[in-house]
Amino acid sequence: MFDKPERSLTVAGSIDEALAACRQGAAILAGGTWLMRDPRRGRPIADALVTLHKIPGFTDIQIGSDSISVGAAVTHEALGRSLIDIAGFEAIVAAAMGAANPAIRRVATVGGNLCTQDFAAADLLPALLAAGATVELQGSDGPLLLPIGAFLKDRKTFLGDAILSRVILDRTIAASAHARLPLRKAGDYPVAIVSMAVDINGRMSVAVGSVENVARRWNSLENAFAARPGGRPASAEEAAELAGDCNDFQGRDGTEADGWYRRQVMPALVRRSMGALFTAGVAA
Ligand SMILES: Cc1cc2nc3c(=O)[nH]c(=O)nc-3n(C[C@H](O)[C@H](O)[C@H](O)COP(=O)(O)OP(=O)(O)OC[C@H]3O[C@@H](n4cnc5c(N)ncnc54)[C@H](O)[C@@H]3O)c2cc1C
Repeated sequence: MFDKPERSLTVAGSIDEALAACRQGAAILAGGTWLMRDPRRGRPIADALVTLHKIPGFTDIQIGSDSISVGAAVTHEALGRSLIDIAGFEAIVAAAMGAANPAIRRVATVGGNLCTQDFAAADLLPALLAAGATVELQGSDGPLLLPIGAFLKDRKTFLGDAILSRVILDRTIAASAHARLPLRKAGDYPVAIVSMAVDINGRMSVAVGSVENVARRWNSLENAFAARPGGRPASAEEAAELAGDCNDFQGRDGTEADGWYRRQVMPALVRRSMGALFTAGVAA
């Protein structure tokens, strides 16, 4: 006879209820696609779990004329489907629809992707960084709005006594692109990811995922782009050359690839992303 571990599940109906459960030691269970594999990483699953999908607004996507609000419990599939026809959000759609596989995308959430602190290859992160997204956290002091880059720099502290409630996207992006390199096929974690966006004033942003432990903007390349005539490279090839000159990333060694390889493929992903922007006609 084996003793089954006693588990409790709280289906929170409000932010206060969710925060109270977390303070008593419950772990947030979103899609569970990361959390449920914790035992494989040598970590037991918490005895108490709390879900957020019944909290009003958490599964909503609100599309306004100036901004779009995406609830933390929105799945990758729902996100991709909702934004697919909206110009500017191509990178987010590609990230949402290209990550993992259809079964995972049907349950994996935006909040889970953003809050998994030990996962370097999250697809949505570079796409949201390039789009200049804002995240909303809910803690004991009420809502806190943060640029996604600031949130990612210190997720452990920000999530210490708060949950991520939604992501806000300004509709100031004219076009974007997301290039990822899985080693073999769909379902593999990407070795490196480059997302790019061009805003309505022509300013370009570039973000990189999976090369370092946490995704970040590629500021030196953005500055090199801005210094070109017209504020952007004249071709995808020129973009790739500039990427070779500006690579200040420390590649991380991991099971799928060594750090040097992740760095080495970055110019090719820049070329691919830039090529997609030229094809969209916005960067011409
Ligand atoms: C086969 C397979 C392939 C995969 N391929 C990819 C891929 O190609 N690209 C990719 O990006 N990911 C991939 N993943 C990883 C995973 O699916 C994603 O990171 C997913 O987005 C996690 O979301 P979830 O809703 O399942 O999170 P969960 O597993 O439920 O939670 C993950 C973590 O986030 C915390 N959390 C969740 N929501 C919140 C919130 N609102 N506020 C605070 N904390 C929260 C949880 O407590 C937990 O610590 C893959 C996973 C599998 C199993």
